[in-house]
Amino acid sequence: MEIPLNQVLNPTNEQRQEMIRNSLETAGRPEDYEYIVRLLSPPPDITNYAQPGELKGVKIGVIGGGLAGLSAAFELRKLGADITILEANDSRIGGRVYTYYFDAEGKYYNEFGAHRIPVTHQTTWHYINLFGLNTLPLTLRKRNNFLYVHNTRLRTTDSIEQILYPLYNLTPQEQNTPWPELNDYAFLYPMLQLPLISVQS
Ligand SMILES: Cc1cc2nc3c(=O)[nH]c(=O)nc-3n(C[C@H](O)[C@H](O)[C@H](O)COP(=O)(O)OP(=O)(O)OC[C@H]3O[C@@H](n4cnc5c(N)ncnc54)[C@H](O)[C@@H]3O)c2cc1C
Repeated sequence: MEIPLNQVLNPTNEQRQEMIRNSLETAGRPEDYEYIVRLLSPPPDITNYAQPGELKGVKIGVIGGGLAGLSAAFELRKLGADITILEANDSRIGGRVYTYYFDAEGKYYNEFGAHRIPVTHQTTWHYINLFGLNTLPLTLRKRNNFLYVHNTRLRTTDSIEQILYPLYNLTPQEQNTPWPELNDYAFLYPMLQLPLISVQS
């Protein structure tokens, strides 16, 4: 799938902050804003802890070339360390972030791993902004997407209730709840049950 550049829609930091505040207002939890931002923000830059070049000549092995390993290597390089990333997969790096290309030109691709970047993920956005990466609005159930569950392949336009519900041990109330509502309920209900906690800085 080739995506025209005019569809790239990275929110600015201010837009993201507004989206978080609006969502929390809607959920009746505006007081969570500061906690969320503090918990999900990157720590102060590594050069606050050591000087650039301070690790020159020091050899460091990072195990795993997923997001965590690559970020650790990137940050440690700022201090001049000699980094070797030890990655078990000999065909690619990225771990559970996996962009699969269907053609040699890289025109048609899809994300087989992580692809949703919540506006709250401050650290991910820090690197997106730093490296000037493009993001796109998420398309989900409005399109004719494929689902593959319990060895059953279907499309989001199929009658999910009739095909998928019998595969699960649902309560009568769940059986009578349309899929979009049940989906929202499954994601939101456990979160809304979380108690408010005070996070000390
Ligand atoms: C299908 C799917 C969808 C997802 N969707 C989202 C999403 O939309 N949004 C989101 O935020 N997150 C999503 N996630 C989660 C996200 O992908 C992960 O949290 C994140 O990529 C983890 O990064 P990591 O570096 O900690 O681990 P990994 O990406 O798992 O990286 C670990 C790396 O270490 C390597 N390794 C393991 N053991 C060894 C060893 N002994 N020696 C050498 N190398 C080793 C592995 O090969 C791998 O490359 C999704 C995950 C999956 C699988």
